[in-house]
Amino acid sequence: MAEINTLSIKVTKTESSKIHQVDLGNVPFGRVFADHMLVAHYRNGEWIDAEIKPFGNLSLHPATSALHYGQSIFEGMKAYKGANGEPLLFRPYDNFARFNKSAERMCMATVPEELFMDGLKQLVSIDRDWIPTSQGSSLYIRPFMFATDEYVGIKPSDNFTFIIFTCPVGAYYPEPISVKIEEYYTRAAEGGVGAAKAAGNYAASLYPNKLAVEQGYRQLLWTDAKEHKYIEESGTMNVFFVINGKLLTPDIGRDTILKGVTRNSVITLAREMGYEVDERKVEVAEVVQALENGSLTEAFGAGTAATIAHISAIGYRDNRFELPPIAERKVANGLLDRLNEIRLGMVEDTHGWVVRL
Ligand SMILES: *Cc1c(COP(=O)(O)O)cnc(C)c1O
Repeated sequence: MAEINTLSIKVTKTESSKIHQVDLGNVPFGRVFADHMLVAHYRNGEWIDAEIKPFGNLSLHPATSALHYGQSIFEGMKAYKGANGEPLLFRPYDNFARFNKSAERMCMATVPEELFMDGLKQLVSIDRDWIPTSQGSSLYIRPFMFATDEYVGIKPSDNFTFIIFTCPVGAYYPEPISVKIEEYYTRAAEGGVGAAKAAGNYAASLYPNKLAVEQGYRQLLWTDAKEHKYIEESGTMNVFFVINGKLLTPDIGRDTILKGVTRNSVITLAREMGYEVDERKVEVAEVVQALENGSLTEAFGAGTAATIAHISAIGYRDNRFELPPIAERKVANGLLDRLNEIRLGMVEDTHGWVVRL
């Protein structure tokens, strides 16, 4: 049992690891779960009963308020294996900080750093054999928290459960994706919760996304709620365009765009690699014009799950613009290589992004 500042995390290990039932080199995204999970509860104003225990089902009261009113948030990050087999976490403190920002916006308890970080580090250490090493694979880490008041009535919950579990994963999008510029439905409005990783945001996106799939697209490119005039982001990725050799991405000044850790990493690395990066409002009209005149040579989504997802085609109204082949995507491919080298500990980490366990 390891001691941490105010709260000790009890560790109960499984007696029957499932790791030998899994081909780690070939796992579908998000359907295979490692042996353990961290669970902690918030009661009477404090976090209690923190425990790493065998992965398994929860038992919930039918009136558990998160199930009715959606006070529920999550994070996503990844662990890799370094050259000596040691687990490497990529920018976990950024995910921790954003988790508590989401918690505040959704009127939930915040999670203390020692619970989040020590729980995370111990959990990944215990399940380190679950970190896949084949190219493009990693251990996906899912911290989340939901309201557990047993009460039918709308008010901020007094009780919460915080959980972290992990999944060995391969590529989120094995193929480049096609996206449609959405001009009717809205993901997030100013003053809303788009900048929080709040569960309901994703439920709300399913129906418009389904319509896009019926039209032959994989994902949406959301536009602003007010005028549908500016590009915001894609489903769970921030978006980048390469126009005339320069990177262009929507700025995250307002609270409608999720402040992606991958987005920030891409911008930082791109500037170091000598690319110009424009962060500003991006008009749908300028993107469409660049597609029409061929000055838009690359587009990609950036997010933890997908890393860098090449966009193969962009739909706008009745037009579908096919983008140049992936092999010619010098900017995105170079950024992806660079990001991978850092995450795998193959090059010096000059930004302090990698946490070694
Ligand atoms: C999680 C997420 C992203 C990407 O954020 P990362 O920190 O890079 O994983 C982008 N957009 C939305 C809506 C998201 O939920």
